Amino acid sequence: MTKRTKNPAPPSMVDAKPVERWKSCSICRPIPAASSEFWKGGETEGPGLPANSIKLEIIGWPYYDDSTSSSNSCIKRCPECGTCYQWSTEYEYLVNGSEDDIHLTRLSDEEGNKAVKLVLEAVDRAKQKFHNDGQACIPLLDAFDKTSGVVEVKKVTNASRFFYHYQLVYREDISFAIPALVKALLNHNHTPPKCDVGRELYWVLRDFANKAPANKKRILTLLGDLKFQETPLEVQDLIKDCIAVK
Ligand SMILES: [Zn+2]
Repeated sequence: MTKRTKNPAPPSMVDAKPVERWKSCSICRPIPAASSEFWKGGETEGPGLPANSIKLEIIGWPYYDDSTSSSNSCIKRCPECGTCYQWSTEYEYLVNGSEDDIHLTRLSDEEGNKAVKLVLEAVDRAKQKFHNDGQACIPLLDAFDKTSGVVEVKKVTNASRFFYHYQLVYREDISFAIPALVKALLNHNHTPPKCDVGRELYWVLRDFANKAPANKKRILTLLGDLKFQETPLEVQDLIKDCIAVK
């Protein structure tokens, strides 16, 4: 059998102009070049956005989204043909019913590629910032007042909130902070029956544990051999969560 190389592209691919891909796409065909939706006091006016627009995928999610709780914009892409759209909303708070103006505009291939590139670059920068800030937060989890030897609650709380937020909202992997978070939970100055800083640390570790059985195992290993009844309630709760099979 001869090796097949440098096959010419089939005629159909040569002929199809990339800019017209949306015309033969089942998702994009019914979507006009520009559409908009106007909300006032929780009710829409006019025809609104085409139904298929909900099938478009947000580029850079969850760093970008199409939440309408404030003015917002994002790039959406068709999962079938790759055509991109600019989505934007202008939100105006009014006492007699807030107004929301949503626009969806199809982009040319050139505009779409450029916009996607910018979004992905911004996401890369945000992820890098998360890692840098996360590294800076780790020493805070181990902050003791030098004179009293007491854990500096505010620093520990701020650091655990940082990891809680990025794990929940931006789906970031906080694996690198887990040993420090477990150590902080074990070392925190517990105020019975349940204390605020203990709860903050527990919540972030619980969410991490619930992501995968391997995470539960890792936390149990880091906790080591403990006398269960002598540990603070937050540690007991975490152990129970990690032993439980979901
Ligand atoms: Zn499409």
